[in-house]
Amino acid sequence: MVRLNRRRFLKTSARSAAAAGLAGITGFKLSGVVVADDALESSPAERIESWIQTYTANSPRNSLRNSENEKAWEEPLVGFSRGDDPIFRQYKEYVGPFHWTPLEIFRLTFPDQSVKEEELTVISWILPHTEAIKADLRKRTKEPSEKWIRARLYGEQFNEELRKYLADTLSQAGHPAIAPVLSPLSKYENSERYGMAASWSERHAAYASGLGTFGLCDGLITAKGKAVRCGSVVARIRIPATPRPYNDHHAYCLHYAKGTCGMCAERCAGNAVSTSSGHDKNACMKQCTTTMRYADELGLKGGYGCGFCQTGVPCESRNPLQA
Ligand code: SF4
Ligand code: SF4
Repeated sequence: MVRLNRRRFLKTSARSAAAAGLAGITGFKLSGVVVADDALESSPAERIESWIQTYTANSPRNSLRNSENEKAWEEPLVGFSRGDDPIFRQYKEYVGPFHWTPLEIFRLTFPDQSVKEEELTVISWILPHTEAIKADLRKRTKEPSEKWIRARLYGEQFNEELRKYLADTLSQAGHPAIAPVLSPLSKYENSERYGMAASWSERHAAYASGLGTFGLCDGLITAKGKAVRCGSVVARIRIPATPRPYNDHHAYCLHYAKGTCGMCAERCAGNAVSTSSGHDKNACMKQCTTTMRYADELGLKGGYGCGFCQTGVPCESRNPLQA
């Protein structure tokens, strides 16, 4: 494999990149060549955060695809956790043997690489919904709003592209990376403790990466609130972990911290949240499935969405425990 200095590489290959329509995109594929990225090597956290934020700001795919071409996502939050953080082994113990640690999904994806868990970093991000999307759902009580369903459908398609973009860009810069939820090996299995659970949890990766804690309805309450979606990539790169400014996994929820609120239970459209027993995953899934018919009627085939617990509540757009 040939390793080139980034400046020299860009100079010699600018014409071919432009011809391929890739100008302006950081990192592009040239078979067998690793594009060294000086800024990535010297300040990896800042570089990666900038990639994620710039891609989200500029991609035409960050769109609800409605007539106004409204954006699906505001500026993301980004956090990092180490591959050898014991929290990932604890997740596995709680959820079940099928739940991956960062090392497991990395080795499954790159079986030829000899790697230790401390050489890996989990890069996690939060995509906050726009005010227009939240405002639309806030007004509703039974069926979700069209914008919310569009954000769930097209916004998540953008999130998939962001995962691929980041994993590809890092890999091309010499740091092999995988978005665990996009792995063909990713699946759902029954966990004795938690019912149906996935091989990888974006929200738990975000919790580990200092980005937020869980609420009564199981949504992740972040500095930009709970009306968000999460994404992550596991990469062979060493980046200091983002501090977790909490000791408890419910630290930002008013119900657990102060015994108040419970508004997500009141707003829940499927009786899936209660202050006595928390979130009922099966009832939630059932309610979300019922919205598919409504999405069909709107011409959004394959779409669905609920999210009443994420809007019109004190944790919608901020951490309610912070002034
Ligand atoms: S609405 Fe209230 S009870 Fe529900 S998660 Fe948010 S802070 Fe917690
Ligand atoms: S997504 Fe819908 S059904 Fe599920 S907890 Fe939230 S409001 Fe209730």
